[in-house]
Amino acid sequence: MFASDREVMLWETELPSLRGAARLHLAVRLAWHLRQRSPQRAAALAAEMAPLLALLPDRARRAAEARFALVEGERLWLDARLDDADALAGQALAAFDAMDDACGRADAHWLRAWIAGDRGDTAGAEAGLAAAAADARAAGDAVRTDVFDAAAALAAVFRDLNHANGQWDRRFDLDAAGLHPAAAGWIHDFFGTAAFQASDFGRAAPLLTRAFHAAMDSGQLRRATNLATNIGNAFIGLNAHHAALEWMQRGLDLARPTGWPMCVGLGLMQSAETLRQLGQREAAVGLLGEALAVLAPVLPQSRGYAIALEYQGDLALDAGDYERALDSFRQLEERGDTLCQADFRSGARRGQAHALSHLGRPQEALAAADAALALARGYGDAGNQIAALKVLAEIHARHQLPAPAAMSGASPALHYLQQALDLAASIEGYAVPGDLLDAVAREHAGDGDYARAYETALRASAAREQTHSQEATNRAIAMQVQYQTERAETEGAHHRELAAAEAQRAEVLLQTSATLEHLSAIGQEITTHLDAAAVFRALDRHVHGLLDATHFSVFMIEPDGRSMRCVFGVEDGLPLPPLKLKLSDTQANSARCVRERREILVEIDEDDHTPNLIPGTLQPRSLLFAPLLIGERVMGVMTVQSLAPRAYGERERLIFRTLCAYGAIALDNADAYRQVAATLKALRTTQAQLVEKNLELEEAYKALEDVSLTDQLTGLRNRRFFLQHVDADVGLSLRSYDEPMRAGAADRDGPPRDLVFFMVDIDHFKEVNDQYGHASGDAVLVQMQERLREVFRESDYLIRWGGEEFLVLARATYRDDAKLVAERIRSAVANRDFTLPDGTRLKKTCSIGFACFPFLQSQPRAVSWSEVVEFADQGLYLAKRSGRNGWAAIYSTPDTQPEGLVPRLIHHFEDALAVGEIRLVTNLESPAIAAGPKKRRLVLQAGLKA
Ligand code: GH3
Ligand code: MG
Ligand code: MG
Repeated sequence: MFASDREVMLWETELPSLRGAARLHLAVRLAWHLRQRSPQRAAALAAEMAPLLALLPDRARRAAEARFALVEGERLWLDARLDDADALAGQALAAFDAMDDACGRADAHWLRAWIAGDRGDTAGAEAGLAAAAADARAAGDAVRTDVFDAAAALAAVFRDLNHANGQWDRRFDLDAAGLHPAAAGWIHDFFGTAAFQASDFGRAAPLLTRAFHAAMDSGQLRRATNLATNIGNAFIGLNAHHAALEWMQRGLDLARPTGWPMCVGLGLMQSAETLRQLGQREAAVGLLGEALAVLAPVLPQSRGYAIALEYQGDLALDAGDYERALDSFRQLEERGDTLCQADFRSGARRGQAHALSHLGRPQEALAAADAALALARGYGDAGNQIAALKVLAEIHARHQLPAPAAMSGASPALHYLQQALDLAASIEGYAVPGDLLDAVAREHAGDGDYARAYETALRASAAREQTHSQEATNRAIAMQVQYQTERAETEGAHHRELAAAEAQRAEVLLQTSATLEHLSAIGQEITTHLDAAAVFRALDRHVHGLLDATHFSVFMIEPDGRSMRCVFGVEDGLPLPPLKLKLSDTQANSARCVRERREILVEIDEDDHTPNLIPGTLQPRSLLFAPLLIGERVMGVMTVQSLAPRAYGERERLIFRTLCAYGAIALDNADAYRQVAATLKALRTTQAQLVEKNLELEEAYKALEDVSLTDQLTGLRNRRFFLQHVDADVGLSLRSYDEPMRAGAADRDGPPRDLVFFMVDIDHFKEVNDQYGHASGDAVLVQMQERLREVFRESDYLIRWGGEEFLVLARATYRDDAKLVAERIRSAVANRDFTLPDGTRLKKTCSIGFACFPFLQSQPRAVSWSEVVEFADQGLYLAKRSGRNGWAAIYSTPDTQPEGLVPRLIHHFEDALAVGEIRLVTNLESPAIAAGPKKRRLVLQAGLKA
């Protein structure tokens, strides 16, 4: 709530070294505590930070914005722009409320209370202080709670002193441990003001003095100026005009530089009142006139303005202008009633009574004076009671009126004067004023009691001597003269300056707010780019849109961390030559900017030259360098340069700083993006290479597999291949037999569905090897392959089963066509000569055995494919035995019994044939059945049965 001067100074020195969010947070705090110390600096900080707030997390950003609204609201309040101030305070209140930030809410209520006070809305002010205190309690903030309570107590004093004492007296403990100095200040203020209102000026002055020092130390400038004049007033109450003047002077000295209407007005009017008391009526009229001129236009409802009305009335009474006095006091009565402030209510009636008496309206005067006395008594206000009693005495002295009941003195006037003297004696430190004693002396004389008249006159003279000391009078005159001279000298210039400053401020504000809006749009644009070149282009465009910059360049630190490179540079619309700098370069401003991590502004006089000018570039007059910072990390530096002198003022630097902040973020993003993209690219290349390798591997594997599935000599498939594929073909065939449509239908009714296994073996092949050599054997094998290919379809499997023996699986075949195929094989081999490598032509034959799958069409799964291959092998063996160059096949018959079929066929072939369990299909004229087929060899490994 209230930081000490020392703390604020420490923060000011810390701020330039901070970056990022830490800087923002400190700037918010600093602006808040500078709100009265230097509202201009606070506003500048807020303006500087505003575009960067977008970088904060949502809640922190809203809190900072609300705090800035309060700072600005307080500035407007001090400037007496109450409506604008209240709007901002209301805005902050709503924002803090939405965040449920009780502390912020308390501060907003506090400001609104003071605004209400200046508007003369006493009830609003009291409600605001109560709300502030309630929120401070809710937030558990002891300092705020104490301050707000003390201020509420203070407000209560003005309404009704006795009531305030009853309500608040016991609330505060100035000896409490840990009491914050600012809170102690407000509590002293409450006690001091309460003593003041009870006319206990001797007690009030030191209490208020402590409050004054506390306010000064905690940046509460408005309260301090107010207190200075209140202390002066307490001294006036004590008739200690010398001290009073000193404090009035202090108040005015504090108030004048602020220009805050309330402070300036109070300082002027209190000085005027002091001068009036010292008999310097004309000077008083002048100062009071100024006070009213300051207050009337902006603060006509305030307590300050009411005080001025009272002083105006008293001055009019002194001048004998009773009509004017009456008018002033009537206005005061109205204001006092509206403000609910007791001191004005009594004073207004006392003044009216005085004026009315002189205007020859004794009855009205008496009624007003009685009312004034009653009110002052009711509030325990001794000063106003004395004043009312003096007026009552005067009225009775001037007019023939009935004596008061229980009159104690020789005359009604003496009766009241004596009461006044008694009351005065009861006030500690109170010097009875000369005019009161004068009045008493006059009454004694009128009563014929000259001895007492003389004695009292002596006392009056002594009192006047004491209070109107020559020194004080001199001082008053000096003060008046000083003020008048000062005013004469400076007023003209001051007003001109003020007007110019105000106009400039308005202009800057207007520009700043437009710029801020523009900047935040730019920030959004710049930070959306993900590639550095686009960021540079966007920066370049906006730099030129916002600033006078003949030259714009960006240097980025190289990965080695020791040098930096100009990554973007344009001068006069042309790209700059490439440039690299060492960070240690002592001549280059850009290097220094990076090293020192701070903004550098260089302004060059006409005759000077930059010694380190980049060759071939223009001679600039203004150069601005700013580091590109991300948190604590410097990425590089950005510079703008102009041929114009002093091109970069506060506003331009703010803009450039903001662009740098955005640029740094965008470039950091771009860098991160670039790294990710590079990694991705490398990954993709590796991936592509892997895929390629994989393809190669796959091909190699395929080739390998192909090799492993192929016979190297003939290029035919081998056994491995056959075993890999046979199951699929068997499955296909079986499924076609499962089709209900074809159950029982003739074979040719549908597409071919049988598999025929041909076993082919070259006859007497061994002789080829033996007679012509192994190579000739090979040649025959290769040619054998060619002939097989001629006979079979591409889709059939041609397998080199071993040596000079071939297995052909004819797929999707009608079983009855198989014998034609067998015959084609036989003739393809036997009818044409083989050619040996030496050109020798050779006749060869082959033998063929075959069998069909399924062996039993009625029960396709009864005989496995491997058993069918054995039957084909038996057919081959039969052909060999029967003289070769022929083919033989075993077919099932309707009588074939699946159980034990294979062993029966192997061991009892002849019987099976005889009983018609199988039939033989062959081209052999006399097949050697009698010998009985026997298993030649194991065709297949165990476990490979279909
Ligand atoms: P049969 O009519 O009874 O089949 O008599 P054959 O001589 O053809 O049968 P046999 O099984 O007695 O002989 C086969 C010969 O084939 C034995 C072997 O040396 C030869 N042979 C096996 N593989 C190759 C080969 O790759 N190249 C050559 N040149 N000869 C082979
Ligand atoms: Mg053979
Ligand atoms: Mg053989």
